[in-house]
Amino acid sequence: MMGTTALLLSLAVAQSSPYVRSHVDKDDSSTQCLFWTTPTLTWNLSSVGNPESVDEQKQREFAAIRASFQSWQRIFEDCGNLRFSEGPLLDERRVGYVQKEENHNLVLFRSRRCQEIAPAADKCWAEETCGNVYDCWDSDDRTIALTLTTYDERSGIIYDSDIQLNASGFVFTTVSSPPCAQPISSKTPNCVATDVQNTMTHELGHLVGLDHTWLSSSVMYPQAPSGEVSKRIIDAGSRDFVCRAYPKGLASQSCLTPTLNASSPGDTSLALGRQVAGCSTTGGAPWLSALAALSWLGWRRRGVRS
Ligand SMILES: [Zn+2]
Repeated sequence: MMGTTALLLSLAVAQSSPYVRSHVDKDDSSTQCLFWTTPTLTWNLSSVGNPESVDEQKQREFAAIRASFQSWQRIFEDCGNLRFSEGPLLDERRVGYVQKEENHNLVLFRSRRCQEIAPAADKCWAEETCGNVYDCWDSDDRTIALTLTTYDERSGIIYDSDIQLNASGFVFTTVSSPPCAQPISSKTPNCVATDVQNTMTHELGHLVGLDHTWLSSSVMYPQAPSGEVSKRIIDAGSRDFVCRAYPKGLASQSCLTPTLNASSPGDTSLALGRQVAGCSTTGGAPWLSALAALSWLGWRRRGVRS
């Protein structure tokens, strides 16, 4: 009994740390951490933007996404070793990583639910490829965004990371106040529903190798209520992660030493892992209305070998 209490207590403490790094095996913190080793990370916006938005709002959403990258960039400039560079707008709509092909770190909105457009008998469901095949949102309705990261399972080195925003289930906004009254009826409200920059700042934490923490002040806290904009600003713990994992003038830091050598791209035994991080609302009965307004940021993991 004492042992169980102590274990639960230590788990709770661990989960509310200032920051938690992502691991090759997400449930095993003794495995290698995920991290980038490239000095410049080029990312691209899908040219389509948010299909739910008019052109002017699309531009504001793009600006909000760029502002999220800039918030992280400022920390990397102070104490880190990674630089973000925005590449051209792309017509690309596929997420994930394909060996021996040109891959992009893509940010895109999905505005149609796969359940509505991909036939139930389609093999894409079993292969978990419906999102790319039909250009649709293939996660549950309560998930706001997903970050899909592909990495070398041996070294933890990240190859690729793509972010999808769920415009089929959420109204994305860019104004700073006031929070929208619930339920949100307009597709273009002049209030804060799901803030693009707030969401992207969290997802970019996943992109650079952060897992969730239950420290409520962290941008990596796994819940985000509708109307929230406070997480546009990166907290001290997440900043500390950048300074420690990506120290200025030094190599990015792994969690296990000695670091296993990265596989070379032509290596036939290359083992790629993929992790999906996202966030969802809980929904629920009226008496859970306080909870219903919250969004949960959850993890799902799919290991693949190729
Ligand atoms: Zn998350």
